[in-house]
Amino acid sequence: MTGVQHARGGWWHDYVCPTHGTELDPRSGDAFPCRYGCRLTGEPFASAWTVYTHQAGARRARLLAHRHTSARACGVVDTADRDEAVRIVAEFAEVYADIAAAGWSTQSEPWMLRGKLFAQALTEAIWAVQLADAVAELATDDMARPALGGPVVSLLTGLLATITSARQTLVVDKNDPTSNYVAWIDAAGTTLNRALLALGHADDGQDWVGRTVQHARLAIGADGWEWEGSTYYHLFVLRAYLLALRGTEPAALPADAAERLADMVRVLADLAAPDGTLPMLHDGPYDRVPAHLEVLEVCVLARQLWADSPLGAVEAATRRSLGAGHDGLEDLLTGWFVGPALPVATRGAAPAGPRPSALFANAGYAVLRDPGDTWQAVLDAGPHGGSHGHLDKLGLYLYGTGVAWQPAPGVPPYASTLRRGYYARTLAHPTVRVDDLDQLPTTGQVDDFSATRVVASAGDAIAGVFLRRELVMTDDYLLDIVHAVADDPTGDTDTPGDADATGGRRITLALRPAVPLTVTAEGGAWRTTWAASRHGDPTQEPAPGAAELHGFHRATAPAVLLAAPGRGPSDDPARTLTLADWTVTGHEAWFVSVYAPGTAVVRDVVLHSGAAGLTIVTVLLADERSTDHRVTR
Ligand SMILES: [Zn+2]
Ligand SMILES: [Zn+2]
Repeated sequence: MTGVQHARGGWWHDYVCPTHGTELDPRSGDAFPCRYGCRLTGEPFASAWTVYTHQAGARRARLLAHRHTSARACGVVDTADRDEAVRIVAEFAEVYADIAAAGWSTQSEPWMLRGKLFAQALTEAIWAVQLADAVAELATDDMARPALGGPVVSLLTGLLATITSARQTLVVDKNDPTSNYVAWIDAAGTTLNRALLALGHADDGQDWVGRTVQHARLAIGADGWEWEGSTYYHLFVLRAYLLALRGTEPAALPADAAERLADMVRVLADLAAPDGTLPMLHDGPYDRVPAHLEVLEVCVLARQLWADSPLGAVEAATRRSLGAGHDGLEDLLTGWFVGPALPVATRGAAPAGPRPSALFANAGYAVLRDPGDTWQAVLDAGPHGGSHGHLDKLGLYLYGTGVAWQPAPGVPPYASTLRRGYYARTLAHPTVRVDDLDQLPTTGQVDDFSATRVVASAGDAIAGVFLRRELVMTDDYLLDIVHAVADDPTGDTDTPGDADATGGRRITLALRPAVPLTVTAEGGAWRTTWAASRHGDPTQEPAPGAAELHGFHRATAPAVLLAAPGRGPSDDPARTLTLADWTVTGHEAWFVSVYAPGTAVVRDVVLHSGAAGLTIVTVLLADERSTDHRVTR
């Protein structure tokens, strides 16, 4: 008995505390504990936990199978690993036979493609890739192969039937061929067929690798982003592609498909913070061990496909996040492709030295870097991004080395009401909202971009309000100019008869730190200090290279910058931090901020306005230097 639960898995996103919004800790006795002391029982937590245990079982089988074949390649025969892997696979085959005989899962949400072992066919496809890879690996062993008998073949053919039917529903009936589900269905198709062939059985004769190539052609934009523009789903789809291509020859890939994959890898390398941390734009987990393992697998497979994969810093950051608890599976995934790696992952030669700023034209993300590549600003001015998009147009995310001051906050597991109730909303993002309403789903526009400057606008994010954000990166600081203007200056959304009516709209720019923040008013302006670490504890050593961030803030109109407790990133929604909302009540506002890491170099910021509004921003530094910045009109 290896401990495979004899139960259907539900939906893993249900494994979240309804009170705190935190992902639950591993089962303890009959309870599913939350880190804040909650002890939850029953459904949907029990079925969600079963997903985790089935995934852990498949990962264990895959780890043991690869550890066995790696040892064997070095002349060591470890029968214990092999035999335990075979036992896990055989037990899953037994459980699957019982469960599949009872038909489709009845736990599925109405929008889901149903599975049998799991509520969702997508979960079944992801699990099938892990298990079938273990089977294919074990099948290379003359002793293991005969032990993987009829029930295992039935498991593989049963899973193949489920994903084939899901593909028909999704791609043909629903005409949704760019869905990220399709990438995983296709990865499961190639992996299940590979396992069947390894066991000496016929495959299903379908060109699953060709389908993977076709998906990449449809779902990946010219800038290399998966069309949804979410970092997590970009990784999710890239990982499916790399898994699906096991055993293929890199040089034999169609040139356009190889280029798309290279572009996808370059997106991650060019988006990452200086310390390799990936900004988690739009839906995706902020900081979650299974997601770090997914990133590590992408990095490990990418450097087998390209001899000079640019993901070194991303891989190092992922390994730091995983710490000593990593079981080593990804490091055993050698020889993934057949034949030599491709020579270049980037278009043209990879530049030596600090990375320059980057613009992703299709996804609408601009990354401005300081000349030394020690900190960066990410501006979101792209399409909404489908069901995984957030109402965060013109959001500004700030990352340092070893610290994320104002990161994209990600989302908690999807069953949490805080996903749609907070983290996907404008309220959670460092951008503009008016009258406390959410923005509308919309597409922003990048009006101008250079290595040191980006200007972006959004005309439809807020009804009747035009937004523009201009960022200028200098050697010393980042200048951030936000302009909001109501297109009908006589309009008044105040409640009729309200004694406090002012004849304007409440225009608010949000500051949304992930670190302890202090705010102090100084004359008509404010200073902010953003701690050098998430905990903000000055007695503890910050990460190497980590610095405080100093902000100076001044608006063109009378404003209130209100500090108040609120939520931090989505990995711990119950943790409170000081947030700030900067509000002008009127028809038009310019919010000007200057950010500098390390020391507070800004002495003052002077705003010069003409008849048509703000024209020049003068930044005065402590060392008496000053610079005039002409404001984009
Ligand atoms: Zn709780
Ligand atoms: Zn977001």
